[in-house]
Amino acid sequence: MSHELRTPLNAVIGYSEMLADDAVAGGYAGIEPDLRKIKAAGTHLLSLINEVLDLSKIEAGKVEISAAQFDVATLIEQASAAVRPSMNDSNITLRVHCEAGLGSMYSDEVKVRQVLMNLLSNACKFTEKGSIDVMAGRIERAGAAWIKIAVVDTGIGISAEQIEKLFADFYQVDRSTTRKYGGTGLGLAISRRFCHLLGGEITVESRLHQGSIFTVLLPVQGVAQEMAASA
Ligand code: ADP
Repeated sequence: MSHELRTPLNAVIGYSEMLADDAVAGGYAGIEPDLRKIKAAGTHLLSLINEVLDLSKIEAGKVEISAAQFDVATLIEQASAAVRPSMNDSNITLRVHCEAGLGSMYSDEVKVRQVLMNLLSNACKFTEKGSIDVMAGRIERAGAAWIKIAVVDTGIGISAEQIEKLFADFYQVDRSTTRKYGGTGLGLAISRRFCHLLGGEITVESRLHQGSIFTVLLPVQGVAQEMAASA
């Protein structure tokens, strides 16, 4: 199913990009904006399909956890480097603060990266000026070691009543922001389920017009099978 949906869509995205470049080179620059719109719509549809497929896999209990030992600071640096190009002409500063001795964790690296990327791309989308800080450290709780990663932004913030619904499937606070920046309303719903699957949690604190803090807490030695099964 996923292959059947993604392959033709990738062709639409790839060929519209090629045509846009060819149009400019061949003296038809006038049609370039329309071709870029086809590409943008295709890219949006692809992320929607990817997220709906992720969600249905989780709902069906078909998500596999592939755990390994990995360095947390490296993962955070990589995720931050991946969002930096999208911030090129913005007024925001992205800073990473990893506590000394953060070390490694035993978890599903791909899922942790997906959660972090989602939080970072949201922080970029919903912050017009100011900063985004990623703070990571180790804490002790209930006799175990946990990795705590907070993404702190100085963006538009979220009101108390909207915060309640934030992790619901397809929920978006403001559809006009979505029209401007894209998005599906599934990123946080999936991120929360992934954190639960990995034995952890994701929480949010926010003040309207002041900014938001999304915090991910994951066990250093995570992904016990019983945790995965009960998520
Ligand atoms: P998407 O970003 O694709 O719309 P998400 O599930 O990731 O979906 O986020 C849901 C909604 O939560 C967003 O549409 C936005 O309204 C709100 N939101 C998420 N992150 C932030 C943030 N850092 N600051 C303000 N609002 C946010």
